[in-house]
Amino acid sequence: MGRLVMKFGGTSVANIDRIRNVALHVKREVDAGHQVAVVVSAMSGKTNELVAWCRDASAMHDAREYDAVVASGEQVTSGLLAIALQAIGIQARSWQGWQIPIKTSDVHASARILEIDGSEIIKRFDDRKEVAVIAGFQGINAETGRITTLGRGGSDTSAVAIAAALKADRCDIYTDVDGVYTTDPRVVPKAKRLDKVSFEEMLELASQGAKVLQVRSVELGMVHNMPIFVRSSFDKPEDIDPHGTPPGTLICSEEEIMESHVVTGIAFSKDEAQISVRRIEDKPGVAASIFGPLAAANINVDMIVQSVSEDGATTDLTFTVPASDFARAKQTITSAQATIGYARFDSETDVAKVSVIGSGMRSHAGVAAQAFEALAARKINIRAITTSEIKFSVLIDAAYTELAVRTLHTLYGLDQV
Ligand code: ASP
Ligand code: MG
Repeated sequence: MGRLVMKFGGTSVANIDRIRNVALHVKREVDAGHQVAVVVSAMSGKTNELVAWCRDASAMHDAREYDAVVASGEQVTSGLLAIALQAIGIQARSWQGWQIPIKTSDVHASARILEIDGSEIIKRFDDRKEVAVIAGFQGINAETGRITTLGRGGSDTSAVAIAAALKADRCDIYTDVDGVYTTDPRVVPKAKRLDKVSFEEMLELASQGAKVLQVRSVELGMVHNMPIFVRSSFDKPEDIDPHGTPPGTLICSEEEIMESHVVTGIAFSKDEAQISVRRIEDKPGVAASIFGPLAAANINVDMIVQSVSEDGATTDLTFTVPASDFARAKQTITSAQATIGYARFDSETDVAKVSVIGSGMRSHAGVAAQAFEALAARKINIRAITTSEIKFSVLIDAAYTELAVRTLHTLYGLDQV
């Protein structure tokens, strides 16, 4: 017997038929003798609708009331799934974040989980063989007693945090894809599903644009060493052998991955903007004069390149920011022109960041150099580069994204993983 958390995303609970299908997945695990807590998202599109209603009611709405509204999507699906489970003879009870409770910080709309008391749920596993159906995405702030939400995509994080609190053996994330791929299969049809990915690699993949899991959920998995299994909710429940190994990707610690490739996956994101601040006097403090105000404005700067200006006497600073922050970044820099003392502001918003990720890079030299050569052969110009222990990223013109991703996918042997 084991203890499992099963998390179902919005498309998996999009209507009553799909909720019934989810109930059959849960029944399969219960029948196999497992203790089960289920975490559900809102029906797909629901949260967007609720967010839009808040904006419509007032563009400048109170974040506490936003949370009261958007948390309702998960309340509905948790109740419906409990009903569907009871209808097929499975003991089940729904739980809202405040009922457990899942205690969070008071940062409404992007609260952090602080503490989860799993004792009542565990007691009911033992005493009543009861399945807990938990509303994802939401919690409560203990000081104010108000409902909070964890930020978009937050039910992945709920699931992993609950799995850790319940000391589950595994957290299964059922979603509309059957695992984590070497890259986006819509861009590279030869992309392969990975059997195992380390927490570190998954963290990089998710941060660099792979959209399977919320980044925070992977961080939590790593901190608690909670294996996360990403699998499809569209597989027919009756076709799955609960004792076999279903298709999917296990995200686990590096030690559990025997055979590791140098490169595990390639992520990309077109939501980038490049800014060049040109002809700045090259003296101590210039970087601080630019990046200080950006940090104060809560704008995340990613790639940074400093180079000598064309005139040979001054310096240019080139960096990237999320496309959604570009207008604010531009405003922040231009309004500080006098203090920074630069001559020209250039920008480019049609850029993409392509990132190559793999733990094997720790022990292999020259992995990035191969990419630079392969991209050059395709006449793809690299605007900026960053590297870290298990990742490197290049910034290129957005028009070349697909070509670059395909080229690198082949280069690192991922076409035949
Ligand atoms: N329903 C929330 C959202 O759409 C949380 C989630 O699905 O993970 O962001
Ligand atoms: Mg999601």
